[in-house]
Amino acid sequence: MNSFVLLPVTITNDYTLMTRQVRKQSAVGSSRELAPSEIQFADSTDYLLGGLLTLKNGRIDKYQFDEGYCKAAKVSNTSQDNFTFYYYNRDHLGNVRQVAKATRSKNGTIVQTMDYYPFGARLCDGTTDSNVQSRRYNGKEFDQMHGLNAYDYGARQYNPVLARWDRVDPLCEKYYSISPYVYCTNNPVNAIDPDGRIVYLRYRGENGKIVQFAFDPQNQQNIPNNSFVRDFVSAYNYNIENGGGENMFNAANDPNREYFVADANIYNPEKRGTAYDPQYGERIIKWESRKGLRFDGDKRQSPATRLEHEFDHAVDDARNGNAHRLRRREPAGPFVNKEEQRVIEGTESKTARANGEDIRRHHHGSVYDVKSSTSTEENWKFIRSLLNFVNGALQAQ
Ligand SMILES: [Zn+2]
Repeated sequence: MNSFVLLPVTITNDYTLMTRQVRKQSAVGSSRELAPSEIQFADSTDYLLGGLLTLKNGRIDKYQFDEGYCKAAKVSNTSQDNFTFYYYNRDHLGNVRQVAKATRSKNGTIVQTMDYYPFGARLCDGTTDSNVQSRRYNGKEFDQMHGLNAYDYGARQYNPVLARWDRVDPLCEKYYSISPYVYCTNNPVNAIDPDGRIVYLRYRGENGKIVQFAFDPQNQQNIPNNSFVRDFVSAYNYNIENGGGENMFNAANDPNREYFVADANIYNPEKRGTAYDPQYGERIIKWESRKGLRFDGDKRQSPATRLEHEFDHAVDDARNGNAHRLRRREPAGPFVNKEEQRVIEGTESKTARANGEDIRRHHHGSVYDVKSSTSTEENWKFIRSLLNFVNGALQAQ
């Protein structure tokens, strides 16, 4: 019996053989920035900023950010574009399960829902338009152009029906026992790649797997090119250079104790959020590296300051176990408990002051999206000003 797979042999990395008019070259493997003179103003889709910014016919169509994207709603030559913001609801693997359109009321409108088989094929279409946007399994773009039907993971393409990669793992020499075409060591529901040292960063890697990186403050040259890792390293250096962050400094320089900083986004939605959450004998800090804290009207703290707050809990737990747990049970008015009071009045205030941010006198606040892990600036304001700037430059051409 013969079985074979038809491979799309005419496809090259930049898709130039497939189509004359639609360019996708910077969205895949060999990406490069387009020069302004290369932007086409008719029948074209161009990708800039590493594929995050999509231009259609020379005008902004869409901008992708971590939590979703925004789309230019009104395109005319005379007016500014209106940008509508859409947000993803993801599961623990980063799969986009819902897309919600931001509205002026507090509740968004669901515009797309998606379910998947374990290896990423669509289980069934939701009740809403499944063609709204193409970020799906593991948050990756599903490329349906000319029937390709593959997820774009950057270095490789993945076919969820075959459940295999279209080419070998670049690191396959390290794992002789595993086929270089196998996806997620055949464990797509939950896969962890453990490593080993002092402060471990746990996040979702290139191919959707959960990976760990041992952060060594003395060796910051060889860090993975991952946004969560970069957010952590900038927050660490920012706090310490400004004169705060003493607990994260102690944790990173204590060879006898292990700490884990996990990207809060790898957890289920209801278990996300920045918090010290020890479990299974591990001192785990869940951190939302792009969420600031707002309290008392419009007072603010950056993700970096919030991270130091959680490190204070973790270091205290490691050193004073029982006393730490007792303090958590002792009520303390607006601070909720004595442990929160100790942290908020102690290192949280010290680090916030060092970073030029606001001080709390209680344990309340709400979170919001910020521009970077060391900033208190709102992300949507930043994105909107960036896009208006780009549009201005395009119209000036
Ligand atoms: Zn706390």
